[in-house]
Amino acid sequence: MHKLPATEPWPYFLSLCNVPRPSHKEQQAIQFVKTFAEVHHLACKVDDAGNVLISKPASAGMEDRPGIILQAHLDMVPQKNPDIRHDFEKDAIKPRITDDGLWMKAEGTTLGADDGIGIAAALSVLADDTLTHGPLEALFTVEEETGLTGALALQPGWMQGKILLNLDNEEDGEFCIGCAGGLDLAATFRLRREPVPEGYALFDLSLSGLKGGHSGSDIHLGRANALKMMCRFLWMAAAAFDIRMIGWSGGEVHNAIPRHTQARVAVAPEAAKELKEFTAQCNRMFSQEYRGTEDNITLTCRASKPTAADSVWNQTSQKKILSALYAMPDGVLRMSSDVPGLVETSTNWGVLLCGEKTLSAQCLLRSAKESAKAHLANMMRAAIELGGGRAVFSGAYPGWAPQPDTEAVRLLVSAYERLFGTKPVVKAIHAGLECGIIGGKYPGLQMISFGPTIRHPHSPDEAIELSTVDKFWQLLLEAIKSV
Ligand SMILES: [Zn+2]
Repeated sequence: MHKLPATEPWPYFLSLCNVPRPSHKEQQAIQFVKTFAEVHHLACKVDDAGNVLISKPASAGMEDRPGIILQAHLDMVPQKNPDIRHDFEKDAIKPRITDDGLWMKAEGTTLGADDGIGIAAALSVLADDTLTHGPLEALFTVEEETGLTGALALQPGWMQGKILLNLDNEEDGEFCIGCAGGLDLAATFRLRREPVPEGYALFDLSLSGLKGGHSGSDIHLGRANALKMMCRFLWMAAAAFDIRMIGWSGGEVHNAIPRHTQARVAVAPEAAKELKEFTAQCNRMFSQEYRGTEDNITLTCRASKPTAADSVWNQTSQKKILSALYAMPDGVLRMSSDVPGLVETSTNWGVLLCGEKTLSAQCLLRSAKESAKAHLANMMRAAIELGGGRAVFSGAYPGWAPQPDTEAVRLLVSAYERLFGTKPVVKAIHAGLECGIIGGKYPGLQMISFGPTIRHPHSPDEAIELSTVDKFWQLLLEAIKSV
């Protein structure tokens, strides 16, 4: 059995493995950090959402230093392998060190190093009375993994610190200093239906085999969006021959690029053969176009028996709806001019649901710039309203505009160079982070995000690299000392 390196965050991390804390069920984790504060005689408050703030006064002579907030999230993603029995609300995570002695993993479940290692590091700092530091606070948020709702509920004026160190990054040697804001869009179209025209043949269309991915961090990879590709197919088919929509659904969540979709259509008898040929032809065309990026595109068309439930959308609404969805922007809209290679603005059409009376599409819009996000939202609304639909926006949260020259960034970068002799990468990402939301409520707060290397977070393969935890800890101590 390999041993853990003798560095500080490990004892707290191992204790946290015994504390069940799936998102929305963080009660035991909240209790864990509250008890910690009591034992160490530290001030502690909990807000209505369940976010916890622990404060520790500055050491003697350090009172005038800018206050530091250490921040981590209490929840973890509950994922397990199908052959494992595990109740994420009751059972302890079973961590083990891999045979090569380099990584820690859990037995068949997520490990919760995202963000348990951040919590453990913050507690280790608070527990250590030998450190010299300015005023310290530790903010532990809830429900990060399911929509950043803990951070969204945070009250302005609750924290005093001037520099926030977010301990939730997953790559050693990397500092994150910016993220995108988000906005949810629900587009709803009323469906006017009529009976399937006499003699029409029914077909089930299916598009699958796409890679999908994260709607933010993978949006620039040129992958196909199943809904958009099917929309393109249906729009072209409707322009070429008499095809009538019955149903069409696809995608699972608005923050993932959809990988598959199914539609049910009726076609005039003379067009039935044409539809089959057209499907094969489009399958070839899409495969050609996406060669090297999407190599398993599978568009099929299968004859089906009519059922009593089948009815078609009326001609006018079908034309307007397909056009609106086809015209709606999708994917990357603009790259950042501040940070090379970073996506600035994008949108992902993630879900489509067809009911008897309505068709609804869900999209997630992102941008590092609020004005660019508003521009995109307007364009989406314009396309939807042209098609007779209704656009409802919700869940807006601000982005975190990268500021590479704050004191916090300079300090962390020089500390990393001093300690490890290499230059860290300073970057911004095209996804939502708690920092974006917190910064929106605490203007002027300097923020930076870093952490040890974690591979495959949110899956049972989640693994944390032991040597990078050691570096993470040294860096954190250095940062606290030198502010
Ligand atoms: Zn996390």
